[in-house]
Amino acid sequence: MSQLKVLPRVYQEMIQAYYSLKSEVEFDIEIQHIYENPIFCNPVISNNGRALLYSEFINSGIVQIKDICYEFIPGFLSKDSIVELVQEKHPELKSRIIAEAYAKILNAIPKLWKKDLNQINPVNVDRIPSLTVGTKMIEFSKVTTKIFYKLLLQKISESPTSEHFWTQHYPSMCFKSLYLVVNQCHLPPECVSLNYRVVTNTIFTLSKLCRMGKHDNSTCLSCRAAPEDMFHLWTNCPSLVNFKSYVIDILHNVLLKDTLNPILDYTQLILLGYLKNTKEINTYFVNFLLSVARISIYKSRQIKVFDDKDIDIKRLFIFTMKKYVLYAFTYYITNNRLPLFEKYYVNKNPLMRYDQKSFQLLI
Ligand SMILES: [Zn+2]
Repeated sequence: MSQLKVLPRVYQEMIQAYYSLKSEVEFDIEIQHIYENPIFCNPVISNNGRALLYSEFINSGIVQIKDICYEFIPGFLSKDSIVELVQEKHPELKSRIIAEAYAKILNAIPKLWKKDLNQINPVNVDRIPSLTVGTKMIEFSKVTTKIFYKLLLQKISESPTSEHFWTQHYPSMCFKSLYLVVNQCHLPPECVSLNYRVVTNTIFTLSKLCRMGKHDNSTCLSCRAAPEDMFHLWTNCPSLVNFKSYVIDILHNVLLKDTLNPILDYTQLILLGYLKNTKEINTYFVNFLLSVARISIYKSRQIKVFDDKDIDIKRLFIFTMKKYVLYAFTYYITNNRLPLFEKYYVNKNPLMRYDQKSFQLLI
């Protein structure tokens, strides 16, 4: 791998990616792929582990296996034909030397390949290989970059250490649903970014800063009554009481009403989102609302920490909700994609009055 360093970075990365995936991908080798193998500098064609390199053969156009095979019948060219081919370019080379080199090549070709090469007619063979990716057998032309990319991600990605943190509080947490909810495409980017930081437990709460030795007092600046950790910041702080009951009221009395499990853990909802997939509920909207509530709490906390000012979180929340829904409505109507607006914000949503020309958000 150290030799790779002379290559441009993009090739280094491609080759490294290939090495990471290699054990998961298997080519179904057909005779044509044997034919197209290079004879020289090929680790598969080697004598005692050493690949071959005869520049005179290369100068004579003998570079791939197919160059030493007959075109329409199975089998290898005779020693004399090879001598003739090489001597055309290198008349000074003795026939004996060429014949010996050719014998070495034939000796170095893997036995299984030789068996196929001596038996199968090269003309009528399908050139397209099948690939086994993971456990699936796929036709080569149908193997998209996405498949390789997913495979690579599985190979190189590690679970965030935050999973341990969340499992301690929520032992039955489904992280797959969590990551889907965090990154939902209709969410405003600033919400996705904050959601990501919350689920990966990378918010610098005052408690965390104290543990890191970057701050000497972990007491919450809003209530000055308890240390500010993740749970305090989002839900336990007494300064959040009114906002919390406002959001709980919307969630439990309006959005999640009539569901099988109407009473959900507010703390989990505000921190991580609504992770169930319930048909009667517009889960997109619920998670949008929770994301905006989350960012409203966080913004008010930032203003408290950096400017020592108190703001009305509920007002900020309502303003932000309306701003984002208006933005989405304008975007989808301009692009003739109202069905998507309906999917994310209108369907099964008692908080929305909507007639395809305008909307009213009842919060
Ligand atoms: Zn507090």
